[in-house]
Amino acid sequence: MNKKNQEWNLQQKNFVLPVCLLLVFLTIAVTLWLTKDNMFYLFNFSYIGISIALGTLLTGILPKRIKQRGRLVTQFLVGSYMIFFLGVYGKENMQMEGFFFYLFIGVFIGATIHYLVAKIGGTLIFGRGWCGYACWTVAILDLLPWKQPKEGRIRHLSWFRYIHFFGSLGLVLYVMFVLQKTPQLESLEEMYWFLIGNVVYYIVGFLLAFFLKDNRAVCKYFCPIPVVQKIGSRFSLLKIEITQSKCVECFACERVCPMDIKLLDYMYAGKRVLSTECISCTACIHVCPTNAIDYTAGFDAGLAEYLRYKGEPIATRKNRKIDISL
Ligand code: SF4
Ligand code: SF4
Repeated sequence: MNKKNQEWNLQQKNFVLPVCLLLVFLTIAVTLWLTKDNMFYLFNFSYIGISIALGTLLTGILPKRIKQRGRLVTQFLVGSYMIFFLGVYGKENMQMEGFFFYLFIGVFIGATIHYLVAKIGGTLIFGRGWCGYACWTVAILDLLPWKQPKEGRIRHLSWFRYIHFFGSLGLVLYVMFVLQKTPQLESLEEMYWFLIGNVVYYIVGFLLAFFLKDNRAVCKYFCPIPVVQKIGSRFSLLKIEITQSKCVECFACERVCPMDIKLLDYMYAGKRVLSTECISCTACIHVCPTNAIDYTAGFDAGLAEYLRYKGEPIATRKNRKIDISL
């Protein structure tokens, strides 16, 4: 085995990002605690900051072949906190229906703050980083053996996410305005809604992963959250970028991408990876043999989604059809 893949990377620069992230979250935690006089903010944002900083640190310093475990640490810590502390102990419905309910009755609690910060506002900075680093559903599904889909995407099936989104919104509107029923905050009913919804996600996610041999099939075809995330992440400040002069066109990054993104098409077009399907998992960065891929900050957006669909072969230098019509 390549010795480099087994070495820890304790360079100083790998500590900078985790420390900065931790300081940002601690600043938010202390500011909200003091201004709102509520200890929850102090605990909530400190815990999330520590979880993210720890995962980022591990991702930076772990040997290359196990770097992805750093991401899984954050995913597990944040995901289990959302389920067990906010969902079960706090009896909040952390599902999207819960967010709609709380938003319509004007209540700002954990679920509302979470959606507004991580899944809507935050996408303008870190895109769909939530999906890669914190989602409690794929924290489990990511442990399944189909990390890199063999087949490409099933064309048009991703539209089901929109049906799911508007179906959920319609259900909430129906319950609130037709049945005239509003949720009881911190009630067992809320908790059951959340837990039953989660069980459905896990079952559907597992079945999709098993039959399509794709851990992330639930993100591509079922979950409604990307419907909102994709709007902000199109303009995300941080995006993946390939330095063309360093790229040897081995296509390893495309083969490892769990979201079937054709990264090199963006490179050929002289763009960063503009796809709103990117979940910021960083697998492409870690697999690149020439360190040609990294996150960069910038202002850009584009409508073209370069994705590999079922029937298209996995890219190699010979079979790649170059399309640069962004
Ligand atoms: S482009 Fe890279 S970071 Fe984005 S989903 Fe694919 S492998 Fe993960
Ligand atoms: S893994 Fe790196 S060198 Fe290989 S194609 Fe991707 S960017 Fe280029």
